[in-house]
Amino acid sequence: MTSYDYDFFVIGAGSGGTRAARIAAGHGARVAVAEDRYLGGTCVNVGCVPKKLLVYAAHYAEDFGDAEGFGWTVGERSHDWSKLIANKNTEIERLNGIYKRLIEGSGAHIHWGRATLIDDHTVEVDGQRFTADKILVAVGGWPSVPEFPGSEHIVTSNEAFYLEEMPKRVVIVGGGYIAVEFAGIFHNLGAEVCQLYRGELFLRGFDEDVRRFLAEEMIKKGIDLRFDAQVSAITRKDGADGKPYFIVDLADLESIEADLVMYATGRAPKTDGLGLEAAGVKTDDKGAIPVDEAWRTNVPNIYAIGDVTDRIQLTPVAIAEGHALADALFNPSSRRVSYENVPSAVFSQPSIGTVGLTEAEARERFGAVDIYRSSFRPMKHTMSGRDEHGLMKLVVDRESQKVVGLHMVGPEAGEIVQGFAVAIKMGATKADFDATVGIHPTAAEEFVTMREPIPDPEEEAQAAE
Ligand code: NDP
Repeated sequence: MTSYDYDFFVIGAGSGGTRAARIAAGHGARVAVAEDRYLGGTCVNVGCVPKKLLVYAAHYAEDFGDAEGFGWTVGERSHDWSKLIANKNTEIERLNGIYKRLIEGSGAHIHWGRATLIDDHTVEVDGQRFTADKILVAVGGWPSVPEFPGSEHIVTSNEAFYLEEMPKRVVIVGGGYIAVEFAGIFHNLGAEVCQLYRGELFLRGFDEDVRRFLAEEMIKKGIDLRFDAQVSAITRKDGADGKPYFIVDLADLESIEADLVMYATGRAPKTDGLGLEAAGVKTDDKGAIPVDEAWRTNVPNIYAIGDVTDRIQLTPVAIAEGHALADALFNPSSRRVSYENVPSAVFSQPSIGTVGLTEAEARERFGAVDIYRSSFRPMKHTMSGRDEHGLMKLVVDRESQKVVGLHMVGPEAGEIVQGFAVAIKMGATKADFDATVGIHPTAAEEFVTMREPIPDPEEEAQAAE
C-alpha cells in the first residue's frame, strides 16, 4: 500500500492539467490539482477564448458596412469597449466555474496557491505539503518580452484583455499568432494600428503564399504593417488630456506615437520558482522541460505536458497530451498523441487555417510537388463591395499524389480546415479530393474543384534554359 497523500498531483489547472486530472480521477486515482491564478489557464482566461470573443466584436465593424450592399441601412454605430470587456469577463467567470465543477465533479481536489516542488514526491502549496506518487507539471507559459530602454511601458496580451479604455493608436510588436490577431482586433474596433515585425515577412513557419497574402489583405484594410522594423526605445509622455502616450523609436531613426505599445513576441515556459531543481527535473536553456514520448521528464515519476514543454503551443495539443497521459498512467490504453498534421488557425482578419506541410517543407521532404492555388473574392463581397480576397492552396506530393498540405486565408478558415484536416490525417490523395462533390455555393468547395496545378517554377526555369 502506498503512503502517499495522492496518486497524482497536477500542478496547473490549464487546459492540459485539467484534462489530465479529470481523466485520472475518472480512472479511480486520488488526484490533486494546484492552481495559483485562474482555472482554465491561458486559453480560458487570457488566450483563445477571450481572443475569439474580441474577434467576434471586431468583425461587426466590417459586417455593418457589408450589410449596406444587401439593402440594409445601418444607423449610427458606436462601440463601448468597457461593455465588451465586462461581458467578456462575465463569460470567463462562467467558464472558470465550469472548470471548477468539472475538476471537483471528477473527484479531484483543488489546492489554491503557487505549488513548489520540495522533492520528487513532495509538493508544497500555500504552506501545506502533500506527497504524491506521480506529479504532472502543466504550468504553461507566460509572455516573453525583450528588455530595452522603455520596455517597462509595454503591455502583453495578458494586460490587453483588461484595458480600461480602447486605445486610439496602437503599436504591436511581433509577427506571430497573437500580434496579427490583435492587430485585426484593434484595427476593426477603431484604433490606428501599426504592426512592427523584425524580419522581412511575418508568420514565420506558415506557407509563404499565406504570409504574403495576409500581409496584403491587412495592408488593404489600413493596418500600417512594417517589416524589418526594430524598436530601439520607448519614451513615456504626458498628453494634454492628462493621459500618457508613448514615443516608439525605431532603429531606422523614425519614431511613432502610440497610446498603447503591445508586445507579442512569444511565450516562455513558466518554470521559475517551481522547485524543479529540488526535485531534480532538468530544463533546457529556455526553461522548458524536455520530455520523452510518454511525457516523462528525466525524473521517472514526474511528467510534463503542454506549453511548459515548448513543443506545440496549442490548447488542443495540451488537452490530447493530458488525456493520453492520464490513460497511460491509470488505465493503460493505446491512446497516442500524433504531432503530425496538427491543424491550426490564426484568427486574423481575414483568418488563416492550415494543416500539414508548407510548400517549402514539402519540396524539401518530397522533391517534386504539385501546387494547386486559387485566390478569389468571397461571394458575399460581390455585393458588399468589400475588397477582400481569399486564398486556397493544396500542396500535393507528386509521386504518391497525397495532399500533404492545405492552407487557406479567408472567412471561417478554421472551421473549414478542421474538416479537411481529417482527410489529410487519413492520407487523402488529390484524386480523393477530386472525387468529393463540392457543396455549392461555398468557399470550401474550392478545395475539391481545383483542377490544374500551377506551373512548377523549377520546371519553367529549366524549360527557359
Ligand atoms: P509566436 O512565437 O507565434 O511569435 C512570436 C513573434 O515575435 C515572432 O514573429 C518573432 O519573430 C517575434 N519576436 C520574438 N522575439 C522578438 C524580439 N525580441 N523582438 C521582436 N520580435 C520578436 O508567439 P505569440 O506570442 O504570437 O504566440 C505564442 C504562442 O501561442 C504561439 O506560438 C501559438 O502557438 C500560441 N497561440 C495560438 C493561437 C491560435 O492557435 N490561434 C493564438 C495565439 C497564440 P521571429 O519569427 O523572427 O522569431
